[in-house]
Amino acid sequence: MNANTQRSENLAAASVLSDGTSDQGLQWAADFPILQRPIRKRRLVYLDNGATTQKPRSVIDAESRYYLEDNANIHRGVHWLSQHATDLYEAGRERVRALLNAARSDEIIFTRGTTEAINLVAQTWGQANLKAGDEILLTALEHHSNIVPWQMLAARTGAVIKVVPISDSGELDMDAFHGLLGARTRLVAAAHVSNALGTVNPVAEIVRAAHAAGALVLLDGAQAVAHQAVDVQALGCDFYAFSGHKLYGPTGIGALYGRHELLQAMPPWQGGGDMIRTVSFEASTYADVPQRFEAGTPNIAGVVGLDAAIAYVQQLGLDAIEAHEQELLAYGTQALSGIEGLRLIGTARHKAAILSFVIDGIHPHDLGTILDMEGVAIRAGHHCAMPLMTRYGIPGTARASLGLYNCLADIDALAAAVRKAIDLFNGGSK
Ligand SMILES: *Cc1c(COP(=O)(O)O)cnc(C)c1O
Repeated sequence: MNANTQRSENLAAASVLSDGTSDQGLQWAADFPILQRPIRKRRLVYLDNGATTQKPRSVIDAESRYYLEDNANIHRGVHWLSQHATDLYEAGRERVRALLNAARSDEIIFTRGTTEAINLVAQTWGQANLKAGDEILLTALEHHSNIVPWQMLAARTGAVIKVVPISDSGELDMDAFHGLLGARTRLVAAAHVSNALGTVNPVAEIVRAAHAAGALVLLDGAQAVAHQAVDVQALGCDFYAFSGHKLYGPTGIGALYGRHELLQAMPPWQGGGDMIRTVSFEASTYADVPQRFEAGTPNIAGVVGLDAAIAYVQQLGLDAIEAHEQELLAYGTQALSGIEGLRLIGTARHKAAILSFVIDGIHPHDLGTILDMEGVAIRAGHHCAMPLMTRYGIPGTARASLGLYNCLADIDALAAAVRKAIDLFNGGSK
């Protein structure tokens, strides 16, 4: 028995709690090699999943196997390996279609991630369709990736950006939203789940109202797809963006979903190989979607890894993952709420498993550093949502963002480390 097997068995034994229930996260953690690696001579308590997730062995093996056995360029070669690599790449597209329940696989465009997916929509659909005075409606809790591309577009077209405010608990002010929606609104771009607060936005209502006003809806799903089942047909959204690396997959790969008739009507984005039908020095004609938006050699190995990552969460079941994380969220909310001087930022009724907080007299960065010494990895700062921090009048928060492999002991470690930090800052008097 090697050390890893021994460790997995120890974890599995420990995962049955005294009340007979099992702490699911401990069992799932055994699938992630990096979590077996001590950091600072301690068990790693990884609570920075909102920034990126760790990868299960099946994802690492899939990418490795691709380079060991299957590597060739796609869509070009007549030879066997090229056709085989093309099949793997297109199987990844079908896997993303199934994850989002899109109607057709050619509604899935591979991108570097969420950021690139949103920029693609801004630079193609936005550039072709917006004119001076048209309005883009954002929310106060957006990630910079869902703000800056629209500002750049507004600067080029004369379009105007409007912002839906939030309540102190971090929920969208839906009355204000309905009031801001108007005849000039062309697009509503909103996070499905806030990365800084955990708020799950009422996206179905947003889509219904936006469509009734004649506007399209882009949803930023970067914090949603790893934590709950998503159905773009049920939501009715027009565009949906996500990143593979926050879904237990590789970095540098993600996807944009777009409704077929919209993608068909959109002008091309980057020019180059693979996106053309014919090229002459006078003029070129373009390929159909989705190839039209995938110029150049894509991240083929990344697609293979993403395929494996989605297969992994599907095998566990997104509903089971969500239930587990909600249990941790409830436990964590209670644990942190009991700490004097700690204030949770983001207490929406409908939340994903993100615990953002500030502590009187301790800068979030100092807190993050002290927690790191205790083996607890969190994020501290503005979380790429500076306007949101301004809304709360704070420079940033400490953020614990949970993933499927987290367990109750991770929350206990977080709470203990926070108490220790408070003691330290109070002069270690206790
Ligand atoms: C991480 C994140 C992004 C950006 O994702 P990238 O992978 O960096 O492109 C956008 N929006 C939200 C809500 C995020 O959490």
